Amino acid sequence: RPGQRWTMRVAALSGGDRMIFLSDRSAIDAADRMRSDFVANASHELRTPLAAILGYVETLQDMKGEADGPMRHRFLSIIEREAGRMQQLVIDLLSISRVEADRFRRPTTPVDLAAIIRKTIAQLQDSEAERPRDIVARLGAETQPMLGDEAQLGQMAHNIISNAMKYGRAGTPVTVELVREGSRVRLSVSDEGDGIAPDHLPRLTERFYRVDEARSRSVGGTGLGLAIVKHIGERHQGLLDIESELGKGTRISVTFPLAA
Ligand code: ADP
Repeated sequence: RPGQRWTMRVAALSGGDRMIFLSDRSAIDAADRMRSDFVANASHELRTPLAAILGYVETLQDMKGEADGPMRHRFLSIIEREAGRMQQLVIDLLSISRVEADRFRRPTTPVDLAAIIRKTIAQLQDSEAERPRDIVARLGAETQPMLGDEAQLGQMAHNIISNAMKYGRAGTPVTVELVREGSRVRLSVSDEGDGIAPDHLPRLTERFYRVDEARSRSVGGTGLGLAIVKHIGERHQGLLDIESELGKGTRISVTFPLAA
């Protein structure tokens, strides 16, 4: 293939024979490139709020006694908001590295997905007081055990439902459904938002990929939420499906196998 690189090693065997080892370098090169892109992106994301914080602190220092109450208050609020952004980014960076490290460890504990989702919804409703949103939950009466990591499944549900709350139109509900399909269970989260154009759909789970960067930042997004969802889904043999229609809304579903 174009650009493909090989490493060759030759070992001498007894009797004058030679053994040749060929390994494909391109996969290693691609992984190296991804890692360095990730470090560059993460550094850039951290540098932006940090520059704002340093700028406002310097301005406050220069103003000394001149800064009046309201202005000082405004600057301090900006510093607090930017520091919060950095904090969320660090939390998401730690999550993604933990989830990646765990990706080949199959979960062995039976968990109740409906109970996990119920708890996540309650936490979101408590914390989203400034953006109140009606969450319609249809989780079914029966408990459907699957093998999973409770904290990671809670985080996955949190990321998908909070996106629907962030990107849905004000005053419209978010619907969370859990439906059993034979030996599988499907979690779907639907919103009535602006939707996503089809050409963006395949890239949404890439780290730091955002359709509208300014919008994501203004609602407190880090661009890592769906990348975390993808890794947690894969660890649980979940199939991720994103359907969206511009002007109508988005439905994100993950289908998991139930415990045998
Ligand atoms: P972010 O922290 O920016 O929300 P995510 O990884 O969670 O990052 O999502 C990536 C991007 O996908 C978002 O920036 C947004 O553009 C888009 N997106 C995710 N969920 C939705 C949704 N429910 N409706 C519309 N756009 C969405």
